[in-house]
Amino acid sequence: MAESLDVVVVGAGFAGLYLCHRLKASGRTVKVLEQGSDVGGTWYWNRYPGARCDAESLAYSFSFSESLEQEWQWSERYAQQPEILAYAQHVADRFNLRPWIDFDTRVESASWLEDLSVWEVRTDTGQTLRATFCIMATGCLSVPQRPSIEGLDTFQGKFYQASQWPHESVNFLGQRVGIIGTGSSGIQAIPVIASEADHLTVFQRTPNFSVPAQNGVLDPDWVTAFKSHYRAHRENHKVGNGSGFGDLDIKPREAPADPILFSSLSEAEATAVLEQAWRRGGARFMAAIGDTLMDEQANAFAQEFVHKKIREIVKDPITAEALCPTTHPIGTRRICVDINYYETYNADHVRLVNLRESPIVRITPWGVELDSENIELDTLVIATGFDAMTGALLKMQVTGKSGLTLQNAWMSGPKTYLGLMTADFPNLFMITGPGSPSVLSNMLVSIEQHVDWVLDCLEDMAAKGKAKIEPSREAQETWVEHVQAVANATLFPKGGSWYLGANVPGKPRIFMPYAAGVGPYREVCQAVASDHYRGFNFE
Ligand code: NAP
Repeated sequence: MAESLDVVVVGAGFAGLYLCHRLKASGRTVKVLEQGSDVGGTWYWNRYPGARCDAESLAYSFSFSESLEQEWQWSERYAQQPEILAYAQHVADRFNLRPWIDFDTRVESASWLEDLSVWEVRTDTGQTLRATFCIMATGCLSVPQRPSIEGLDTFQGKFYQASQWPHESVNFLGQRVGIIGTGSSGIQAIPVIASEADHLTVFQRTPNFSVPAQNGVLDPDWVTAFKSHYRAHRENHKVGNGSGFGDLDIKPREAPADPILFSSLSEAEATAVLEQAWRRGGARFMAAIGDTLMDEQANAFAQEFVHKKIREIVKDPITAEALCPTTHPIGTRRICVDINYYETYNADHVRLVNLRESPIVRITPWGVELDSENIELDTLVIATGFDAMTGALLKMQVTGKSGLTLQNAWMSGPKTYLGLMTADFPNLFMITGPGSPSVLSNMLVSIEQHVDWVLDCLEDMAAKGKAKIEPSREAQETWVEHVQAVANATLFPKGGSWYLGANVPGKPRIFMPYAAGVGPYREVCQAVASDHYRGFNFE
């Protein structure tokens, strides 16, 4: 007999936790299904050495509870994975969410039963649940992408994938370690692995731009002063064309700062602005000159600035040149934030192999065979990314009206209205889905905005006696076109990145996140809701 609920939530990462909290408080019956053994989502799985958030802790945290934000003390400017996981666990305990979560439970299918107007959700534990609403809180970077390199399974040494790191500690002492992948994960892991291993070989196909985190322990007095303005900072995170990170000054700004445009700066001024951003550290480097992601000249200038930094830091000129990204505009692939990444290549026991010059032929039982040499390894780490944004949704068998599967509906790329719902899949919501700012934003800001919007929508439906919601195809088409138009006005499509699905063979090349910024997006969502949920059909 299937258990009947108001809402089934898939995933107990930050989105699932906040959904659970809000749904529970609204008096609805809810169950959260989580494949991991604990809460935390991405912070539960990504335990690789050096894993930490590339957004500042004080911004990358929930804002829905003033007492939570005041009582939780972050130790560093950028929290490490164990601390973020502890925070997620604390939220689950503090708001008593665990009784509503089934752990070690993977959703295999979700099917819309037309006659009953319910979602039927089946799990690998044999559960069948039926719910009026199904909300996917499955995360944007939760399905690891394993590269198709010949012989990968034949390696006889120790093998680790960054995003599926074991829970027990991993020791690299005395070992010859190799790592494939130089995105955010690899760039965080490389300095830490190098600090332990006897020898580290980094196999790099495409270099990425990385800026120093300038991480440090947070000064409790500074934090107290910052937190005395926390509400105003949180409000700032929600507005403006940016990504929802606000700034780091103690006193919150009163109005969004006007962006500095490249054309308004002399070369010396532009260099000074970037120098200051470099010293300040972190991904907000990209916002220092406001049109870096819009204007090719501004972008080229920032690229050159980072190239110079790399050449200054890395002593071996051949290694330095190989580390300079030249194949994509800066920021069009997610900018990396590092601690001593480039410096690591100055150590004698660290070697960069440029796969553009010496491609991998195959992995052998003993190491990596390049077309120029064999490199023997004791341990191989891969940090080769994710099937981003659509991976988790398409991995499940999601079936909507008239037997239409999500795989078929999204065959030529994800189609959503506002990144919240998709036509022919009634009562199925997505949190930070494709077509919303999601990965281009502070995920916590976007998660809270989506969850609040969905809860308001459910309240509105309940008040008006409506049982079914679904976007119209026209509204969806218009939104999909708008998302592409916004992206095409930027340099993002030139990045060949996972934002476009370019890292997964055969995946449609569609720019998936909404690039207009969290403020304008929030306004659109609010306007749609105020206008009787314009673009949605109800029954
Ligand atoms: P990623 O950015 O997609 O990087 C994957 C890396 O693996 C790339 O360097 C890629 O090279 C390489 N690769 C893939 N297949 C390969 C192959 N067959 N041979 C050689 N190299 C191969 O993945 P990620 O580093 O896991 O990061 C993904 C995203 O997760 C980030 O952009 C970020 O949004 C998020 N993340 C955040 C944090 C944080 O908050 N600190 C940390 C980690 C990740 P090519 O570019 O040549 O394909």
